[in-house]
Amino acid sequence: MKKIMMNTPVVEMDGDEMTRIIWQILKDELILPFVDLKSEYYDLGLKERDKTDDRVTTDAANAIKKYGVGVKCATITPNAQRVEEYDLKKMYKSPNGTIRAILDGTVFRAPIVVKGITPTVSTWQKPITIARHAYGDVYKDTEAKVPGDAKAELVITRKDGSEERQTVFEYNENGGIALSMYNTTDSIKSFCRSCMNYAIDTKQDLWFSTKDTISKKYDHTFKDIFQEIYDQEYAEKFEKLGIEYFYTLIDDAVARVIRSKGGYIWALKNYDGDVMSDMVATAFGSLAMMTSVLVSPDGNYEYEAAHGTVTRHYYKHLEGEETSTNSMATIFAWSGALRKRGELDNNQELVEFADQLEAASIGTIESGVMTKDLALISTLPDKTTVNTADFMKEIRKNLEKMRG
Ligand code: NAP
Ligand code: MG
Repeated sequence: MKKIMMNTPVVEMDGDEMTRIIWQILKDELILPFVDLKSEYYDLGLKERDKTDDRVTTDAANAIKKYGVGVKCATITPNAQRVEEYDLKKMYKSPNGTIRAILDGTVFRAPIVVKGITPTVSTWQKPITIARHAYGDVYKDTEAKVPGDAKAELVITRKDGSEERQTVFEYNENGGIALSMYNTTDSIKSFCRSCMNYAIDTKQDLWFSTKDTISKKYDHTFKDIFQEIYDQEYAEKFEKLGIEYFYTLIDDAVARVIRSKGGYIWALKNYDGDVMSDMVATAFGSLAMMTSVLVSPDGNYEYEAAHGTVTRHYYKHLEGEETSTNSMATIFAWSGALRKRGELDNNQELVEFADQLEAASIGTIESGVMTKDLALISTLPDKTTVNTADFMKEIRKNLEKMRG
């Protein structure tokens, strides 16, 4: 069989623990037999991050900027216990945070939908993709406990030193609490453009919701910026594709989402996105079936699984016990990256391969062969539970059949 050629590399970022084990099997079984893989490899495993004082993470992010497409394995974000476990020089920051800071992107999360895993919300037939504005708001706020008989004020100081002062609240003898938070025009604009571009990319409607009726300056500014950019830069493109940009109040959006069939992108402010992405992920059935892609406003893409390194399974694996860890989200990270690479390079064969890899993976589960996490919740009548490696070997058999 002739292997599919690639013109440009994808940036490959290896990771930690169980997902690192999956990474190797996945490449050996599902990528390398079919594709003459061109990748620029960065080892983001914790040992290598420590060895390079985390420069390897920055290098990988810059490589994504250069080549436009990356695929990342889950990685450990060190805490005190990890510093001890790996004897680290310091407590490095989250690689995802570092990469996001360099690429300035928005994270889109979408579930993989298969027959037999029924969403809790019975009307949902297609995935709902959540886009969270991961910048500012309550995550970077300034908070205070206010003593009795005090006053809280919001002061804006201009460059010339002049001030605009507003009273937030005058407290009684029992005091209370106060909070201030911010966002920036630049960040909201880039969030907006990432969402609009991703809607075009995936040919899905884009919903956006805030609480603009109550927050007449803060949230309303998000609404206004989205509308302005849509009208000026995207309306025509959306109309041509037959997709829609739709703004509604967050309360109304929540009600509509629950009654919807799915199949759209839902853009949300930072806190709303944090909360709603967990709700949507849970209602679709399994964290192991959640994919994630970071899209930068200037068109760079980084694909990964939404879950972590599955530490509990890894420790079992180290003990020599058999594991049944679900590789679907990591497989879809690879198919997403290869499809995007194919689209950017006009490499139709690679795009087709990505489609086949996904179809073979979904087909495997729908034929009843799945890992333990899914077997526990699948409604299919006949199910076979397989271990980590055998699941990917089954997919390979399907893929070989499809490719003839
Ligand atoms: P996790 O790795 O997502 O795993 C939590 C639990 O969810 C697992 O113990 C397992 O449940 C289940 N699960 C997750 N993925 C699964 C899969 N593919 N197949 C089967 N079951 C799966 O989260 P964590 O244990 O909280 O975090 C572990 C490490 O991952 C941490 O060091 C953290 O820093 C890192 N992390 C990295 C990323 C990233 O790189 N994007 C994201 C999150 C966390 P059962 O044990 O019940 O089987
Ligand atoms: Mg959350």
